[in-house]
Amino acid sequence: VLEARGIVKELGGNTVLNHVDLTLAKGDLKVLIGPSGSGKSTLLQCLNLLHIPEDGQLLLDGTPVNFKKKTDLYQLRQKVGMIFQDFNLFDHLSARQNVAIALKKVKKQAKKQAHDRACEELARVGLSNKMELYPAQLSGGQKQRVSIARALAMDPEVLLLDEPTSALDPELISEVLVVIRDLAKAGMTMLMATHQISFSAGLAHEFVFMENGRITEQGVPSVLLAENSGSRTRDFCAKIS
Ligand code: ATP
Ligand code: MG
Repeated sequence: VLEARGIVKELGGNTVLNHVDLTLAKGDLKVLIGPSGSGKSTLLQCLNLLHIPEDGQLLLDGTPVNFKKKTDLYQLRQKVGMIFQDFNLFDHLSARQNVAIALKKVKKQAKKQAHDRACEELARVGLSNKMELYPAQLSGGQKQRVSIARALAMDPEVLLLDEPTSALDPELISEVLVVIRDLAKAGMTMLMATHQISFSAGLAHEFVFMENGRITEQGVPSVLLAENSGSRTRDFCAKIS
């Protein structure tokens, strides 16, 4: 579905991504792990062109994306949804309006249609009875579920998640992980940066380990985490969990 080849990104005079290659096939669930500053967020942002890479190529369903063409950027962002650590909701809009506004603005849907779809997606993440509440009235876990509903309403082909649970109180993490697990079971193509190692190990098809702007290891979690694997991934996971 989405393929990155040789992605280079420079920020503040530093090469933050150094020729990164990554492929997400349909139904893939890959989990990005690695030390702070290794480039995980930057990579996710390059994959939906919130950051424009200095070099490299993105292919969406096999077709190269022209970084200089606005229509290509919009099309990619519609097909590649993003979930942020800090939810990125509009504070002055209710949960339902937060989901509906994207449908009206981006998908040009009529009010009624957007409303119905918003209700449907909020129900899917277990928020049927919170639809009229504003972000300030919702818990962190509920806010993150609204943001997932908003992304899903756009019918993305790929979902990128940047540490979706790391801003949450420990007791709220599992309600978001349950939603992510359901999406995985439904076959959603996803790339998620997270520190939830044991959760991801049970779910991910692959761990992708980043260090200093490069992918240095990639493989099946059980293999990378095996006692005698000697992998950097295993060392890292042992340190953070
Ligand atoms: P974390 O686990 O802490 O979220 P990360 O792997 O997501 O880390 P990035 O946020 O992608 O790391 O950052 C990669 C590197 O790019 C870091 O060294 C960071 O300091 C640098 N960086 C990120 N954004 C900018 C910016 N706007 N200007 C300059 N440098 C930046
Ligand atoms: Mg990050």
